Amino acid sequence: MSRGEGPLLEESMRANRDSRAAERTMWAKPSTRKGLRIRGSRGHPVVRRAVVRFAVWLRAEYVFPVRVPVYLSPHQQLVMMDGQYASASFFAPWDPTVEPYIRMATGDYRSQQAEHGRDHALAGYLGALAHEVVHYQQWLETGEMTERGVAVRSENMVHRYAQIVAHP
Ligand SMILES: [Zn+2]
Repeated sequence: MSRGEGPLLEESMRANRDSRAAERTMWAKPSTRKGLRIRGSRGHPVVRRAVVRFAVWLRAEYVFPVRVPVYLSPHQQLVMMDGQYASASFFAPWDPTVEPYIRMATGDYRSQQAEHGRDHALAGYLGALAHEVVHYQQWLETGEMTERGVAVRSENMVHRYAQIVAHP
């Protein structure tokens, strides 16, 4: 081990331990495919870069014992199965062995940026992703989702991240 690897190695050992602890009690079935993955080739590049940076931090802070891809959409909004529109969504399988996924619209970045400025606009996307990550955590634990407490938990996530980065 060379100098400088220590803390990182420790970090990943802690993440592995946290992950095994979570796997013992969760509803979802632990998978050999783990982790948060950003699938952003179709997303707005500015949003994608901010989401990729946020995801690095999320992986270090939270466990992802079942693979959850995040698909960035080039569209302004997502169309849900019931025909409603949303800016982001979490697909929660009823089968605990099926992988969930997150979708997020990024096509409205230009208008969001014009209206709110870069940092606030990007913070909005990170908040939307954090919201869906909280639903992922609920799904892992119980197989079910509720809006109860989600706003507080996701705001707290983004707030903690904001304390360590100058810009989203
Ligand atoms: Zn929600």
